[in-house]
Amino acid sequence: MNPKRISILGATGSIGQSTLDVVRQTDGLSVYAISGHSRLDMLVEAAKEFQPKYLVATCESTAGAFDFSGVPDGTEVLIGQSHVDEIASDPEVDVVVAAIVGVAGLPGTMAAVKAGKTVALANKETLVVAGQLITDLAAKSGSKILPVDSEHSAIFQALQAGKPGEVSRLILTASGGPFRDFSSQDLKTVTVEQALAHPTWQMGDKISIDSATMMNKALEVIEARWLFGMPADQIEVVVHPQSIIHSMVEFVDHSTVAQLSPPDMRLPIQYALSWPDRIAGVSPKLDLSRPQTLEFIPPNVDRFPALALGFEVAARGGTSGAVLNAANESAVAAFLNRELSFTDIASACRQILEQHEFIANPNLEQLMACDQWARQELNRWISV
Ligand code: NAD
Ligand code: MG
Repeated sequence: MNPKRISILGATGSIGQSTLDVVRQTDGLSVYAISGHSRLDMLVEAAKEFQPKYLVATCESTAGAFDFSGVPDGTEVLIGQSHVDEIASDPEVDVVVAAIVGVAGLPGTMAAVKAGKTVALANKETLVVAGQLITDLAAKSGSKILPVDSEHSAIFQALQAGKPGEVSRLILTASGGPFRDFSSQDLKTVTVEQALAHPTWQMGDKISIDSATMMNKALEVIEARWLFGMPADQIEVVVHPQSIIHSMVEFVDHSTVAQLSPPDMRLPIQYALSWPDRIAGVSPKLDLSRPQTLEFIPPNVDRFPALALGFEVAARGGTSGAVLNAANESAVAAFLNRELSFTDIASACRQILEQHEFIANPNLEQLMACDQWARQELNRWISV
């Protein structure tokens, strides 16, 4: 059988590099194209190892100053964002791994969905911003969106234990992040360094901050709403600090089915790439030879108010996801720049969400206008 040809959008990031490691250790997968925004040396290293047909450097100014002479002869270098859409929709491609961070990942993901590709989706922000548009497009094109997010991969796997009408609840687990036991007072003085140190997962900066505020779980509630067509009031979150159970599905007979594995993103990535088959794993096995405890703790929305925003937006839909996402992306960038305090991230997002002019059935242009507006509002928030 011919190997599955993969385009990796965001190959230099944490998910992109884990994807390359899965390909490295798995038979039957080949890298067709890779993209990266910065750290172009990593992109060249990947090109040397995996010999893709295309290498896309999305940031024109970074690429302009970079020496691509190390790129192998068979790899064509393309510069600029528009080429992401090309490698996402190329007829030669079987699976697109959407691993760009933030709304910047939306155009490429959308191009892949429009082209009817199988999409291994890490870029949850695309569904947060444009869940209705993307799921409508996928229904039209026949594109299959497979979750890479570990919680959604767990739910996707657990759902196979019953029929769609038999599901009563999706239960997303959350590690609780590095500040799970911090008081409201202590949260006010959290530093960038503290927030970037996640207890169970090694990830890019943006999602690490989102995990610390629990905005990541809010975004995942919205992501689950769109991926699985489940109303917000049938989605729940439970804090599970060990990150062994990646999420659960409760069925109408009150049987709850969970997926367990050590925290390692290579498993959900590999499952999205091998689906509908299961193949020899590259991530470690669960070791039950030593005693261990699994805990489940209800989330504390008073200390982590970002979480409530996820449920509100999942229930409301329309333009609210685009506004929440953009306010949060800007707030996280401002926090990383030391212009905004940790607890102000959720406060600013709430205020901007409440101020926005809601549209129930927005088109892409209206969503992007909301994205721009929310970013401006965040800047105003910082400057007053
Ligand atoms: P990262 O910051 O490590 O990597 C991001 C990638 O996107 C890089 O390749 C970067 O070059 C590229 N990129 C950044 N800005 C860009 C732009 N403006 N245009 C084009 N490309 C750009 O991020 P990550 O941790 O790998 O996360 C990627 C996505 O996967 C996010 O949506 C995140 O929420 C999701 N995700 C990550 C994890 C994880 O364990 N890291 C788990 C679940 C979901
Ligand atoms: Mg996750």
